[in-house]
Amino acid sequence: MNRCITHYANPYVLDLVAYQPGKPIEETARELGLDPAAIVKLASNENSLGPSPKAVQAMQQAAAGVHIYPDGASFTLRSKLAAMHGVTFEQTAVGSGSSELIELLCHACLHEGIELIAAKHGFSMYPIMCKLFGARYVEVDNKPDWSHDLAAMLRAITPQTRLLFVTNPTNPLGTMVFQEELDAFMAQVPEHVIVVFDEAYIDFAEQKPDTLKYIHQGKNVAILRTFSKAYGLAGLRAGYAITTPAIADLLNKARTPFNMNLMAQVATVAALDDEQHLAASVRMVREGKQQYYAAFDSWGIPYIPSHGNFILVKTGQGRKVFNACLQQGVILRHMDGYGLPDYIRITVGTAAENARCLEVLQQVLGK
Ligand SMILES: *Cc1c(COP(=O)(O)O)cnc(C)c1O
Repeated sequence: MNRCITHYANPYVLDLVAYQPGKPIEETARELGLDPAAIVKLASNENSLGPSPKAVQAMQQAAAGVHIYPDGASFTLRSKLAAMHGVTFEQTAVGSGSSELIELLCHACLHEGIELIAAKHGFSMYPIMCKLFGARYVEVDNKPDWSHDLAAMLRAITPQTRLLFVTNPTNPLGTMVFQEELDAFMAQVPEHVIVVFDEAYIDFAEQKPDTLKYIHQGKNVAILRTFSKAYGLAGLRAGYAITTPAIADLLNKARTPFNMNLMAQVATVAALDDEQHLAASVRMVREGKQQYYAAFDSWGIPYIPSHGNFILVKTGQGRKVFNACLQQGVILRHMDGYGLPDYIRITVGTAAENARCLEVLQQVLGK
């Protein structure tokens, strides 16, 4: 009798449930028999303004050179990031999306008997990566206002804790923790714990807590940023970490040699120079959130005011609402996998996309 190959697989991999991405436009268009251009995708917190034209131009210029391996050290990009954040080159790391940096942190720090702490209803990549390396995923309840309960997270720390994620603003809830609370928390985190500030949505926040200062104070902190959200480069896969030289060194050891591809290196360097595009993206999201809040308020539908580029709305029966909107060509995200079955998450798009989404929702919800 032949045994199935999975019998021999790494049990930590075998037991995983793969990440569930937002439903792709092409797939939806095919299923509905619609033109992809008629589909509105507000499912994955992407930037509806698209990428910076400067980034696109940089990629066009670099495209003919893709037969050559990229710079394995990502020198130009990391130098730029170091200057931008006022740290040394050795305090930077880059990767294929900040998802890869999450993976590298887990790879570098986690194994059996070790623990990772994160807030409940958090980004689903954390438990996946944690379990992949055989560590225990410790989930801490949020405060009644849905923000991270930092005091409870402190109490959850044990001698086995190695990573503690503070997602600021957090996805999919949209809440934030601020400076004073963070200072009190950081003063009490023991040195065997790396605090990871996942700041994927920080560009959209009106108040941005200074987390870099903890690194300057010598604390074991990694700040993760991504080009997928405000910078509009999700399809490229580009993210980075600002951290201590020791942690950056661990990430460097755990990565593959060319983990930041050529297109991603040149596009991100160009995108960082396009402050206008970033500002326009942030403005679009701030205005779009008001568009949604006004509608939800008038319909009497509860939502969590968001510091990100998405809104979590309590429609009831999230999966049903998701499916009904999908039939109309509007792709949203149901929250079954996040333990929030009564909610849907809507990414804030252009004014026209938001209007279309609200029109469909109004009909679906009978408002
Ligand atoms: C989107 C997101 C990321 C980054 O994703 P990448 O595309 O891999 O850079 C990281 N953390 C959170 C909480 C996110 O929502």
